[in-house]
Amino acid sequence: MGYLGAIEGGGTKFVCGIGTEAGEIVDKVSFPTTSPEETLSRVFNYFADKPLDALGVGSFGPINAIPGSDKYGFITTTPKPYWRDTNILGELGKRLDVPIGFDLDVNVAALGEAELGAGRDGRGCLYITVGTGIGGGLVLDGRIVQGFSHAEMGHILVRRHPDDAYAGCCPYHGDCLEGLASGPALEGRWGVKGVSLPPDHPAWVIQADYLAQACMNFVLVTMPPRIIIGGGVSQQAHLFPLIRQRFKELMNGYVEHPNLGEGLDSYIVPPDLGGDAGLTGALILARQVIR
Ligand code: ADP
Ligand code: ZN
Repeated sequence: MGYLGAIEGGGTKFVCGIGTEAGEIVDKVSFPTTSPEETLSRVFNYFADKPLDALGVGSFGPINAIPGSDKYGFITTTPKPYWRDTNILGELGKRLDVPIGFDLDVNVAALGEAELGAGRDGRGCLYITVGTGIGGGLVLDGRIVQGFSHAEMGHILVRRHPDDAYAGCCPYHGDCLEGLASGPALEGRWGVKGVSLPPDHPAWVIQADYLAQACMNFVLVTMPPRIIIGGGVSQQAHLFPLIRQRFKELMNGYVEHPNLGEGLDSYIVPPDLGGDAGLTGALILARQVIR
């Protein structure tokens, strides 16, 4: 019996680890994401002396998540230098002779939070990350929900806040959710990084409005058991009360459920696993490919 292996492949850094079927991380390392050759050779070095039963991988995207298609397991149209059209799953499979579970980073983080984090006491969660980009993943009854490909929840359309004249920074859509509410959007609108905007700055009312609209849309479409908002921007803890308040106003009592009423404080919440959500989720994914 070996360990389960886990990889959180981000656009900025790769984290590799080993752990148990219970999702407990036993060891981990992290290094910057450079070229695919260099980065993957560090991955293989890490796992070389570690007997694995299976591997779970959460990758930055967009990825081809369509099993059976020619490019299944490729990172596809990323603007990240060197990584476009990289057969990451194929390269891993050549060197690591174990079953491999492969999915989008945010889906895998959602799986971690759903099983062992802030979603663990319910049927799952919808996990949104608000950082350099915005992404979201839905886990229900222990499974990542996907249709013909992985979701792209960060690019939904939201109604513009009346006090917001910022054009938006999504290269595809301009003022989609990511274009208006990602970390770079905050910086583009206000001229300083989000981390240096004080809690009473008007930026946060606008930010909360966009994230509340997103929560409303996700609730109306999927009725997730819980909404977890992570990523760098969510480290602004004062955002959560603002989001909940605006969400309540927007919903206007239309859906009657304790989650959206007296339970709202424990319905829209920050993550529990912090930086370990991705690696934990990758261990769960590895366990799922064995069973
Ligand atoms: P990534 O999305 O690249 O994995 P992060 O989730 O840390 O990494 O997101 C980085 C983005 O979040 C940057 O635009 C950064 O300015 C913003 N950010 C990071 N930390 C904070 C913070 N504490 N408050 C507001 N914005 C932040
Ligand atoms: Zn977009």
